[in-house]
Amino acid sequence: MVTGVRESLGEEFRELTGPTHSCPICDARMAVVDGSLPGYVEGTSFAILDCTSCHLGQAYPTSADPSFYEMVYHNKWHVPGYSRYWYYRDFLLHHPKKGLEFLSSFEPCYWGVRRTLEEEGVRQDTRVLDVGSGLGYLTAVLRRGGLEAWGLEMSADAVRAAQAAFGPWYIQGSVEHGLSQLRGSFDLVLMIELIEHVDDPARLIEQAFSLVRPGGRLLVTTPNKSYFPSETWRTDPPPNHLWWFSEQSISRLADKLRLHCRFLDQTEYYRIHPGDRTPPQLEGPVLGSDGTCLKRESYLRRGLRATGSVQLARSLRDLTLRATARIAREGPGSHTAHRGPDMCAIFSEAK
Ligand SMILES: [Zn+2]
Repeated sequence: MVTGVRESLGEEFRELTGPTHSCPICDARMAVVDGSLPGYVEGTSFAILDCTSCHLGQAYPTSADPSFYEMVYHNKWHVPGYSRYWYYRDFLLHHPKKGLEFLSSFEPCYWGVRRTLEEEGVRQDTRVLDVGSGLGYLTAVLRRGGLEAWGLEMSADAVRAAQAAFGPWYIQGSVEHGLSQLRGSFDLVLMIELIEHVDDPARLIEQAFSLVRPGGRLLVTTPNKSYFPSETWRTDPPPNHLWWFSEQSISRLADKLRLHCRFLDQTEYYRIHPGDRTPPQLEGPVLGSDGTCLKRESYLRRGLRATGSVQLARSLRDLTLRATARIAREGPGSHTAHRGPDMCAIFSEAK
């Protein structure tokens, strides 16, 4: 095994196993658990590392690549795991009365936003910043709910498109640059399914928290490795996802940043949507080396979206699962009722 890994990674592997490669969160040794996981793009492969202490998963080389996201963008209606975002955007654009309740019935991360707002007590003047606002629909539904919500997005094209679709509530920029005037001014900062994509998630979380007002909260959602303790990489192939966080790694990171962290109890979401406990695993390659889409969403799923029947189909699936209690018998062994494959971590000032 070790010889095979050495051959496939060459010099990089020797560098990787040197004394300098330690966990970026807890400094413990990173072990190679897979030497050549097929990447998102045909012909690429990545090593998968696992922290021997906090069980942070890392893809190596660990580098976010803008040209990769351009390839995804060109296939946006077909790529599994991304096309649904365009569906949400279009649906919400054409149904101006639909709000966060609609989104929260589809994904545990949006349900987590709603629950956090309820727990923290929503007021009309609550200021929310949606970091990585992308297509803009989450910021838009928060506005529809009466909040003073702003979207922050690095891509100038995405900001222009969101402004044209939903309104002027989007700022082009990143948490690292040019936001000094916004420091300490938000009741709630959101980073929804973002940290697994970036080069330095610890720094991003630290910088995002600096935008939170005293007593405010930072909500971070990301795929939860602790839910699949025996899997090495059950999340999107690299370089789409570069990290797979365990609950321990997030807790250790909070300690390091001298912050308090708790995980949202998701019992209610998974009781209603038991089908979401076992999301389909996306394996690489998804895109060809020339940027074509190799794995497309099924015709059934696309048809359901086109006819606006997704919600009905999901309800039928969840009703069936609840009736047969299949998940209770066949779900991953270690799961508990209050957690799922996607975590919602809430950061606040240390008590
Ligand atoms: Zn670690």
